[in-house]
Amino acid sequence: MSGVAPDAPLIELKGITKSFGEGAAAFQALKGVDLAIARGDFVAVMGPSGSGKSTTMNILGCLDVPTGGIFRFRGVEVQALGRDQRSLLRRRYLGFVFQGFNLLARTTALENVELPLLYRGEKIAVRQKAARHALDQVGLLPWADHTPAELSGGQQQRVAIARALVTQPDVLLADEPTGNLDTQRSTEIMELLTRLNQAGITVLMVTHEAEMAQFAHRIVHFRDGLVEREERGMLAASQTGLAAAAGSGAGYEGAIPA
Ligand code: ADP
Ligand code: MG
Repeated sequence: MSGVAPDAPLIELKGITKSFGEGAAAFQALKGVDLAIARGDFVAVMGPSGSGKSTTMNILGCLDVPTGGIFRFRGVEVQALGRDQRSLLRRRYLGFVFQGFNLLARTTALENVELPLLYRGEKIAVRQKAARHALDQVGLLPWADHTPAELSGGQQQRVAIARALVTQPDVLLADEPTGNLDTQRSTEIMELLTRLNQAGITVLMVTHEAEMAQFAHRIVHFRDGLVEREERGMLAASQTGLAAAAGSGAGYEGAIPA
């Protein structure tokens, strides 16, 4: 049987290990991580500094390869793919948000959001239409012509989220997206991620702040390169039917006409 079961997890990590360096200097950052993420899930990853959170996110994002174990995405074993196929997977299905926004200075919000489509070779009309829609999704359409320096930190992170959304990814990967923001801006980012998740996108985020993690359905705690335990997010637990509504992904994928 080669078919993928319809209820197979969107993302599956089994016994994932990762070593940096060689010989006596080798350091094992991941020691056998098991994690399954369903379509429509909203997962927060917490854990002490150095526990392997970013290493895991980089593997999930196809930015790095594991030393051992199995990583399946949509049922496909990612380590069996060549470099080009992995980068296609990344560009087609994954969107990234980092702590430091990583926007181009002296470049408008609209142009920053257009970038992933420019790399893809899309024409300007297509790029601008999709970028305007993505900026609208994060509530920043009126700021389309402003450069990062003219925007607050919270607004810059929302531009970075729009840039991640513009390719209509299945999964949003965010590594400490609220790490540089105060509580109010952080809460706004979490509310935005919640809305996007409710519209169908699967969200996986790393955070240091327990308060922000409560927005997720699941909170996965890392320690010393392993998943130590998991709990439910308190805010998400109080909302019903959310995962079911998000399951089809139709709302999100239908958001931008092809
Ligand atoms: P976290 O994001 O949980 O703070 P990381 O995944 O960044 O932790 O790092 C886990 C461990 O792996 C740390 O001890 C870190 O120093 C080490 N590490 C991460 N990346 C590298 C690398 N490129 N080379 C060597 N060691 C690394
Ligand atoms: Mg990290």
